[in-house]
Amino acid sequence: MRLTSLGAAGTVSGSAHHLQLDGQQLLIDCGLFQGDEQTEQRNREPFPFEAAGLNAVLLTHAHLDHVGRLPLLYRRGFRGPIYCTPPTARLTATVLRDSARLQVDGYTQALKLARRIGQERTVPPPLYDEQDVDDVLTLMRPVLHYGQTLTLGQVRVRPERAGHILGSAFLVLDSREGRLVMSGDLGRQPSVLQPGYSLPPEADAVVVESTYGLSRHPTLPQTLAQLAEVLRQAVRRGGKILMPCFAIERTQVLLYLLHGLMERGELPRVPVFLDAPMAARATLSYAEYGAELRPELGAMLQAGLDPFRPSTLHVVTTPLESQRLNRYDGPAIILAGNGMMTGGRILHHLRHQLWKPSTTVVAVGYQSPSSLGGQLVGGAAEVEVLGEVVPVKAHIERVSGLSAHADQADLQRWLEPTGPAQVWLVHGEPEVMQGFAAVLEAAGRSARPVPAGQPVELSGAAVPAER
Ligand SMILES: [Zn+2]
Repeated sequence: MRLTSLGAAGTVSGSAHHLQLDGQQLLIDCGLFQGDEQTEQRNREPFPFEAAGLNAVLLTHAHLDHVGRLPLLYRRGFRGPIYCTPPTARLTATVLRDSARLQVDGYTQALKLARRIGQERTVPPPLYDEQDVDDVLTLMRPVLHYGQTLTLGQVRVRPERAGHILGSAFLVLDSREGRLVMSGDLGRQPSVLQPGYSLPPEADAVVVESTYGLSRHPTLPQTLAQLAEVLRQAVRRGGKILMPCFAIERTQVLLYLLHGLMERGELPRVPVFLDAPMAARATLSYAEYGAELRPELGAMLQAGLDPFRPSTLHVVTTPLESQRLNRYDGPAIILAGNGMMTGGRILHHLRHQLWKPSTTVVAVGYQSPSSLGGQLVGGAAEVEVLGEVVPVKAHIERVSGLSAHADQADLQRWLEPTGPAQVWLVHGEPEVMQGFAAVLEAAGRSARPVPAGQPVELSGAAVPAER
């Protein structure tokens, strides 16, 4: 069992793990590096393996940092199957099409700027375009179902529920070389939309994410009470309520919570504008696969009620409609991407609203310190938005606790049944992985971070008995 991590080792993006296992060459996830320019530059590096030589790709879930380099894999010669659950296939198509559009738009804009100073040759081409996405989507095989085994040569793969986002799975891989569990991203317990994660079996080695390996989330009731209070105060201020959000899972969580708050009379029925086309498309997939969500959501959908549709919801489609919202008067909730306010439609809303004391910005996700979102929650008195310096008079509120990731206690509980397995940590900041490894070691487990780019033998495992 030899693993080489080509991303999400010592970082939280670019998840891609190359496995050599009992004669099979598998790639688990193929995610995009996201962050500063230097990090994103890594997307252009060649893969340290022959793309055409892979037997298969297995996807744990559809977040961009787990699927965003798939079109590059196709470009570089991979024509094998990409196995995933049906909802992951649907969401991956949405995510990749959006990513291609952003790549191409970004390139066009950069080219325009560079032409003015005669530097167009320095602009790198888009990583991929919509044709590349269409090509790679022909390889998708949505045949993974929780608890059912898929056989690839001598390797048996069993996906189990990860509770992170719609369709997310962790993978149990059995072969003559031992049993390996790959966690993908694990959900917090309990979560707003997802049923709890399944527990893994005893294993020889386990590769586990560690995003929040040193954190503890506030409880869900605490978080929901805080969100409701923040929104009620914001409505009383009478201005716009801007909620920058991530398209997959976070947007659906917010729509569901807003729906519930308004139905129960805990929040006035102010207009809700969903100004995020990709999030709107993803929300359709959530409604379509309602049976995969928590039973109460499935039951609502079954009864013909849409839990993601507050009665005051307006779905904004065109950029022009989005711009028109600037002239809309009175309290209204606007959900727009992107989550860290580094791009997307949220920017023009911020430019028009940040200077008003009646405005409230509610940050519901992680904000990296250098991002616009990070500056706002850090208390900046003025910020630059779309080339304009804007004084910040708006109320900036932060509601943590709506994370889709397991915290330390959730991770420890999940790891428990893997028994004596060697634990390998991925998907965390280096100091978090070191710290979490120490926590696990103190609890009697053997744990260490996976080194980036270096092959590691996961265990010198014996042949497993039929388990
Ligand atoms: Zn994820």
